[in-house]
Amino acid sequence: MTPLDIYPQFGETRGSWFWDSGMAVVEIETEEAITGSGWCEDGCSAISLIIENHLSRLLIGQDAGEIEGLWDRLFRATLPYGRKGVALHALSAIDLALWDLAGKAAGKPVYELLGGPVKPDIPVYASALHPVGAEKVQAEAKAYVEEGYQAMKMRFPYGPGHGIAGMRANEEHVANVRDAVGDDIEIMADAYMGWDFLYAKKMVKRLEPYRLAWLEEAFLPDDLNSYAKLRQETSIPISGGEHEYTRFGFQQIIEKQAMDIIQPDLRRCGGLSEGRRICSLALANGITVIPHAYGPTHIHFALAETAVPMIEYFPIPSWDDLPDAEVEPIFHDEPQPQNGRVTASTKPGLGVTVNERIFAG
Ligand SMILES: [Mg+2]
Repeated sequence: MTPLDIYPQFGETRGSWFWDSGMAVVEIETEEAITGSGWCEDGCSAISLIIENHLSRLLIGQDAGEIEGLWDRLFRATLPYGRKGVALHALSAIDLALWDLAGKAAGKPVYELLGGPVKPDIPVYASALHPVGAEKVQAEAKAYVEEGYQAMKMRFPYGPGHGIAGMRANEEHVANVRDAVGDDIEIMADAYMGWDFLYAKKMVKRLEPYRLAWLEEAFLPDDLNSYAKLRQETSIPISGGEHEYTRFGFQQIIEKQAMDIIQPDLRRCGGLSEGRRICSLALANGITVIPHAYGPTHIHFALAETAVPMIEYFPIPSWDDLPDAEVEPIFHDEPQPQNGRVTASTKPGLGVTVNERIFAG
């Protein structure tokens, strides 16, 4: 499912409409020759323009230790074209670079600067389970259980354009995974903004028997009334927020009582600085925070935040026969989960270096 699935010409692949799946990396260097790195995804070609033509002017010559003040000045300076979207991606990458830099300057891992760990390690959930056929999906789900994952997320294949047969196929996808893993593993499912309220209202009735841990991003990010109404319709916890920005955006989700679980992405929502503020809002409102996507930033964040019980991880499915050697890693020294759990490196800063070879291709 994607939000463009309702248009037949864009129904087959996300690549038919998606722009710029690359990554933008920001490096900030101090006079003492300490360099911090931050990064973001989505709309990267626009992000470099924003940083080079505007934000760098507000950073060069400033004190890199003033993370709070720099964040606020950049946010205010981007208001005429920002608040959400690529301007916030750029601000997020800069914020992450400043935290990495602060850790390196202090000789401490970022989770120590965030107040220290509140847990020794973090459970990760396996996020994959594309609708590739019952047999492959069940084998994949069973492999995750054997690898030690206690939770896993699948993708819905169909939405409002695919009628009752599509609804049945969605239900079968969930039933196959539940059947493969038994009752003691959490399973959840992602609609990636592809449904509407009436469709979701019918779907949740079909899905309730399978005890989903959450139903993710059923609607467009701004359609908070539908999220709030769906929460009243079903016992399934409702999640979203990977395309939401700043404390102000998440405050609207909370005021509408639209979600049980929010899923900010620190590379979009405003970095670690804003992620902490979003966590405070969540903690004061009985909402769980499970960040979108894997990465070193989310590991440090989850270690230091009581509101974050788990993070996302993208394993390579058991049926994928791509040789490991052909997968170029994005980072050097990125911690990898063992037995369904992960912890941060104790190196200063975020503890990784960006693999510059990914920019060569
Ligand atoms: Mg998602």
